Amino acid sequence: MTMRAAAAPTRATPPAFDAERVRADFPILARRVNGKPLVYLDNAATSQKPRSVIETIERYYSDENANIHRGVYYLSSRATEAYEGAREKARAFLNAREAREVIFVRGTTEAVNLVASSFGHARLERGDEVLVSAMEHHSNIVPWQMICAERGATLRVIPMDRSGELLLDEYQRLLTARTKLVALVHLSNSLGTINPIADMTALAHARGAVVLVDGAQAAPHMPVDVQALGCDFYTVSGHKMFGPTGIGLLYGRAEQLEALPPYQGGGDMIRSVTFAQTTYAPIPAKFEAGTPHIAGAIGLGAAIDYLGRLDRVAAAAHEADLLAYAHERLVQVPGVRFVGTAASHAAVLSFVLEGVHAHDVGTIVDQEGVAIRTGHHCTQPVMEFFGVPATARASFAFYNTRADADALAAAVAKVRALFA
Ligand code: PMP
Repeated sequence: MTMRAAAAPTRATPPAFDAERVRADFPILARRVNGKPLVYLDNAATSQKPRSVIETIERYYSDENANIHRGVYYLSSRATEAYEGAREKARAFLNAREAREVIFVRGTTEAVNLVASSFGHARLERGDEVLVSAMEHHSNIVPWQMICAERGATLRVIPMDRSGELLLDEYQRLLTARTKLVALVHLSNSLGTINPIADMTALAHARGAVVLVDGAQAAPHMPVDVQALGCDFYTVSGHKMFGPTGIGLLYGRAEQLEALPPYQGGGDMIRSVTFAQTTYAPIPAKFEAGTPHIAGAIGLGAAIDYLGRLDRVAAAAHEADLLAYAHERLVQVPGVRFVGTAASHAAVLSFVLEGVHAHDVGTIVDQEGVAIRTGHHCTQPVMEFFGVPATARASFAFYNTRADADALAAAVAKVRALFA
């Protein structure tokens, strides 16, 4: 089988992508590890940061640091403008209708917990159902289990096939009048599958269910248009899209966010407080209690600017080439078996090496300077489904090259030779 990416370019002949030039924007890529040039292939866990993001954060703390929203003085106004400016950048990035539909959160984990708690307390009742897919990250399973247990609702699972594609007939059977919410991953971190979110959302809406999409992996690799997807909620982790850790986005349709109760209480999310009663601020403030990660939001804005300067069509074509090339190289190593072979696939290669534990693969390739992730990738049900305790996972970004794929294949061949 040849692996073709579906995050595919829409232009017939995309211009060549100059990965070498782009690499120069990422200082860490120049370093050595274990005496070898770093080959960073753990982008699904977290991405590296371009200099412009690092410098933006430094500039914020050196020149502009103040708390936002409350101050009347110069620095506070500057910081507020920068923070709210980042919200507008995020709005444009996701093609949300309005900036108030973008909530700054810690990342996808917090975004899902926010919706599970807020939506769950307002809308879930005994007998209701929440659907998640068989390939969800733990962060899109556990919060739903917790709120379902609390509310007496039931969690149901949309099954997948052996290639790692969701069974859409089963999905339609599971969608009933009891279904209140469907939570789906856009791009699976452990399989690389890209799910047909727009179609699945339309089916859910036809049944009156609300849709949350986990976009942690999709946002860095493909254009995201929340209006075209039609979903009610969409989550983003800044650190996976070349921004800082500790910051992310929750997109929520305004009418959904307005109707939901706050997730946390505290400063900045109120209109007025007395000991008898508190009224809440309008969105987005209602969902941003306390001092937020101001520097993080501004840094994420810089990452969005960086992506805006890239030719993302060419970058996607480059990632598709890397996927096909790396697959071609790895498949030549005896005993490599891929986990996740969906037709619609991003540049994530999960594999097992027969007779060798994934952790040994990861540890040995690290000696060659190659950084990959091994384990269950926070998707234990996926591992159980495929009957493996763990996989090795190489995940690419636009700054990777064919030479990185060569280094990976050579390192895995070395592991093979050691365990022959
Ligand atoms: N969903 C997916 C698909 C992920 O890959 C991850 C991160 N591995 C998460 C959710 C959780 O994201 P975070 O840890 O940034 O909250």
